[in-house]
Order: sequence, then structure tokens, then C-alpha cells
Amino acid sequence: MKNIDSDLLLVEKLKNLRQRVLTKQHNMKPKPSDRPVTFWMKKDRLMNEIGKEFTIILRTKGCSWALGKYGGCTMCGYIQDANTEVVEAKNIVTQFNYGINNKIKEISQDKDNFVLKIFNSGSFFDDNEISDDARLQIYEKIESIDKLLNIISKNLKIQICEFYNR
Ligand code: SF4
Repeated sequence: MKNIDSDLLLVEKLKNLRQRVLTKQHNMKPKPSDRPVTFWMKKDRLMNEIGKEFTIILRTKGCSWALGKYGGCTMCGYIQDANTEVVEAKNIVTQFNYGINNKIKEISQDKDNFVLKIFNSGSFFDDNEISDDARLQIYEKIESIDKLLNIISKNLKIQICEFYNR
């Protein structure tokens, strides 16, 4: 009984902390919904070789778990990068295109193969964050880039196909 009480107390404290962050965010200048949080390229281990990664962090409404009644995971601050309002599909796609278009020349000219990593606050496959339509448009964009070895998204690793240097 005592453990349940202390668990509830912890959940309550966590919710309060999260709420303080969200209130602070609401009072700040809104974050641009058509630009990703960040993106970068760096060396990485691919399946059987050393290659590079292109990583992009998309700005979405935020993790459903963190925005829900339990306040999310205690160690996670991803919600601070989120918008907390719904980000339209077209803006999510614009974010992705902005990042990839910015690096596409470097990726194409690089002798290494690449892995693509897409992250957002919670899950790429949560419809509350990223709609089917946005995901489809992102897949189509990825399909047009013949240098990506596989794709890794938070919560799920999908090996789409193997595109080697052509
Ligand atoms: S983004 Fe992941 S780690 Fe962070 S609160 Fe949500 S489920 Fe937890």
C-alpha cells in the first residue's frame, strides 16, 4: 500500500514538473512549425560497413505519453522541442524536405553510403504527431534518394531496402 502511495506521489510530482515546462513553453515565442528542430550528418556504423548518417529531428505536437495524464518518462525532455499544438502534415513534410534538400548535394557527392535517421518527440508512427499523409510524402521523398542504405526511426527500425552507391 505504501509503495502505491509513493508511486502516485511521484506521478503527481512528475505531472507538475511537466506542466510547468508546458506552461513556460506556451508563454514563449512559438517555434517555427515548418523547420525541423535540427539535422546533421556524421560518421556511423551501417550494417556491414562504416558509412555516414543523416539525422533529422522533426518538430511535432509532441509525445502523446508526455502530453498525457501521466506526464511522460521522467528522464525525457523531448517535449521541450515540440510545438504542443498540432503541426500540419504539410509543415512536417516541409521540415523534412528542408533538412534533406540542405544536405542532398553533400550526400550525393560523398563516397560513403548513408543511413537515414528520423526522430521526433514521441513516435514517427503516432498519428497524433505525424499523419499518414505526411509519412507517405516523406517515404516518397526518401524513395527519390538512391543513396540511403536503410532508415531508422525511433521506436522502429525498418530496413526499407539497400541502395548502394550507383
Ligand atoms: S518521447 Fe519517448 S522517452 Fe520521451 S516521454 Fe515520450 S515515450 Fe518517454
